[in-house]
Amino acid sequence: MRPQILFPLFADIDTLKGVGPRVRPALSKIAGPLVRDVAFTLPHNLVQRRRMTAASAIEGEVGVFEIQIDQHIPNRKPGQPYKVRGFDDTGWVHLVYFKTYGDSLLKSLPVGARRVISGKVERYGSEVQIPHPDYAVLPEKASDLPLIEAVYPAGGGLSSRQVRRFALEALAQTPALPEWQDPAWRARQGWSGWRDALEAAHHPQTMADLEPAAPARRRLAFDEMLAHQLALAQRKRARRRLAAPVITPGPLSAALEAALPFDLTGAQTRAVSEIRADLTSGARMGRLLQGDVGSGKTAVALLAMASAIDSGFQAALMAPTEILARQHHTNLAPLFADVGIDCVLLVGRDKGAARLRALSGLADGSTPVVVGTHALFQEAVTFANLGLAIVDEQHRFGVAQRNQLQAKAGSGEGGAHLLTMSATPIPRTLELTQYGDLDVSRLDEKPPGRQPITTSALPMDRMEAVLERLGQVIQTGAQAYWICPLVAENVEVDLASAEARAVALKARFGDRVGLVHGQMPGAEREGVMAAFAANELSLLVATTVVEVGVDVPNATIMIIEQAERFGLAQLHQLRGRVGRGSGKSACVLLYDPPLTQVAQARLEVVRSTEDGFLIAEQDWAMRGGGDPLGLRQAGLPAYRFADPVAHRDLLLAAADDARLQLARDPDFSSERGRALWVLGELFDWKPDRAERAD
Ligand code: ADP
Ligand code: MG
Repeated sequence: MRPQILFPLFADIDTLKGVGPRVRPALSKIAGPLVRDVAFTLPHNLVQRRRMTAASAIEGEVGVFEIQIDQHIPNRKPGQPYKVRGFDDTGWVHLVYFKTYGDSLLKSLPVGARRVISGKVERYGSEVQIPHPDYAVLPEKASDLPLIEAVYPAGGGLSSRQVRRFALEALAQTPALPEWQDPAWRARQGWSGWRDALEAAHHPQTMADLEPAAPARRRLAFDEMLAHQLALAQRKRARRRLAAPVITPGPLSAALEAALPFDLTGAQTRAVSEIRADLTSGARMGRLLQGDVGSGKTAVALLAMASAIDSGFQAALMAPTEILARQHHTNLAPLFADVGIDCVLLVGRDKGAARLRALSGLADGSTPVVVGTHALFQEAVTFANLGLAIVDEQHRFGVAQRNQLQAKAGSGEGGAHLLTMSATPIPRTLELTQYGDLDVSRLDEKPPGRQPITTSALPMDRMEAVLERLGQVIQTGAQAYWICPLVAENVEVDLASAEARAVALKARFGDRVGLVHGQMPGAEREGVMAAFAANELSLLVATTVVEVGVDVPNATIMIIEQAERFGLAQLHQLRGRVGRGSGKSACVLLYDPPLTQVAQARLEVVRSTEDGFLIAEQDWAMRGGGDPLGLRQAGLPAYRFADPVAHRDLLLAAADDARLQLARDPDFSSERGRALWVLGELFDWKPDRAERAD
C-alpha cells in the first residue's frame, strides 16, 4: 500500500494552481498525470542575464537594460521588422519585432516611458538590437526579472515559464521523505537529503548544475536506479520462491555429452553447471545465456534439454524465425535420434496430419523435445509436462510473445524453468538495467580452432578492386553476403539502392545472385535464404535481415556497404555471419568518405577486435551521454533522472545495494527498509518500464 506521506505527490496535476481542463492535457504530455511527475520535470537549460548598458552590451549574451522609450519605427515593407527605439545614458537600444506590430506595442511600450527589458543581444552594424525581448517591465518591477532563469520543457501551448511555475508549485507540495540511503554511502558521496537535492535540481545556478555530474542530479539518479534495482531484485526473489520441477542430469545427458563431436569449452562447462545447479534447486530458473555468435550456445541448450528428459520432463526450444527453427531442428534431431529420443519441429506454416501428430505427441507426453517458432506457444499447443523452455535470440521476440511463452510455461507453482539465450553481448551496466531480474551466464570464450576473420575498411572508390576479388573467390565455390543499409527514416531510398546493387551484381556475376530485404513477404524471404543456405546462390544481397542467426558455414565473405551507417554492435553481428566454417573468412567494410571521427573510431574498433563483449563496452562508452535514440534502441528503461551511461558507476552501486537489502531485510521491516519501501512506491516499483516503452 502506498504510504500516506506520498499522497500529495500522487495527486492529479489538476490540483496544482492554474491547471484546469485547458492546461491539463499539455502539462500531462510534458510531465505526466501526477504532481510527482511535474515535480520530477527538471530544467534542461539556463538563461543567465546580466545588467548591461547600450555601451557595454555583449553580443550573444542575455542582457538587462533600463531604457526610456524614444520612438516607434513601423516597418515600411512586409518582412521588415517593427522597431522600438529606446536609450539609456550611453546610447541607443533597438527592440526588434518580426511578428508583433503596432497597437499592442504602442500600449505596452509607450513613448517616453521607462522600461526594464531583457533579451539576447545582437549587433547590427553599430546598432544594439534586442530581437523579441523576453521581458519588458516597469522599473519598480525590475526585481521580478530573474538574473538566472531555469528553462523547462515547453509545448502544447505551454511556455517554459508556465511549466516552471507548475514545477515549482509541485515542488512546494513535495514533502521531505525519510532517508533511504545508507548513511555511510551518502556521507561518502557528500550528498544532501532527497528533498534538498530535488530543490537544488530545480534551482540551477550555473550550467554545471544541469550536467549529469552535478551532485543533486547524481543523488536523484542514484535513487531512481536504486528503486529500479530493488524492483528487479524483488522480482528475482519472487521467482526463486516459485516451486519448479527438480531436474537432474542422468544417462541421457551423459550419452549426449559423449556424442558431441567436440569437448566443451571452459565457458560452456561453467554455463552448463550453473544451469544444472538451477535445475536441481527446486526453484524456478530464470537465466540468460549470453554469448557471442558462434560461442556455442546450442550445445549448452542441448545438455539442459537432456537433463529435463532424463528427469521425465519435456523440453522446448523456441527460435524467432522459421529458418532458424529449422536449422536448430536439423542440427539437434539427429543427436537426439542417436540416443533414441524423438525431436519434432513445429512452425507456423505446418498444417495437416504432421502437425496434428506433433501436437498430440506433446499433449500426451510421448514427444519429449520440440523445436519451433512462437507457434509453439500458441493456444492449440499443450504440453503434458513441460519442464524447460528455452528461447533463442530472445530479444527478437515481442513483449506479447514473451508473455505468451511465460503463461504457457506456467507462471504458478510447478511451472517450467526458463532459459533465454542472446547473441547480443551487452555491457554489465546494460545487463543490470535490462536483465536485473535474471541470473546470467556468459560464454566469453570461443570454441577452439576458429580462424580469425580478416576485416578491412575501404572507401567506396575501391569498389572495383573488391568486385574483382569477389569474383575470384566465388569462382572457387565460396559464398558471400553483400549487406546494404536499410533504416526506417530512409526506407524507400535505401530499398532502391539495395535493389540497384542487386541488379548491378547480377549483371556482373549472373544468376547466382539473390536479394532479400525486410519489406519482402516472409515466405519469399525465407525461400531466398534457404536457396543461399543450400548453395544454390553464391552471393546474397541483403538488408540487415541476415542478422537473425542464419548459419551458412560455406559463406566466407561479408561485404558491408556504407558501413559507416551501421552501429558497432550491428557490424559485429553481421560479421559474425562468416567465419563459421573451416575456410578462411574476410569482412570488408565499404564506406563513403569522408568519415566523421566517431564513424572512423567505430570502424576501427570492429577492425581491431572480434570480442563481442569488448565491442559492446566500447559501443557503450562511445555513445557518451547523448544519443537518446541509441539508448532507446538498446531497450533502456525510461529513466527520468538517470543516464545509465553518465551514471554507470552509480548503477553498479545501486545494484549492489539492492542485492544487499534483499538479502538482509527482505521484508523491508528495518528502519532503512521502510524508507526504501517509500522510495519504491515513489517510483512505482516498475521493473519492466523498458518493456512497456517499446
Ligand atoms: P551460437 O552461440 O551462435 O548459437 P552455435 O551453438 O551455433 O553458436 O555453435 C557454433 C558452431 O560451433 C557450431 O558449428 C558448433 O557445432 C560449434 N561448437 C560449439 N561448441 C564447440 C566446442 N566446444 N568446440 C568446437 N566447436 C564447437
Ligand atoms: Mg545460435
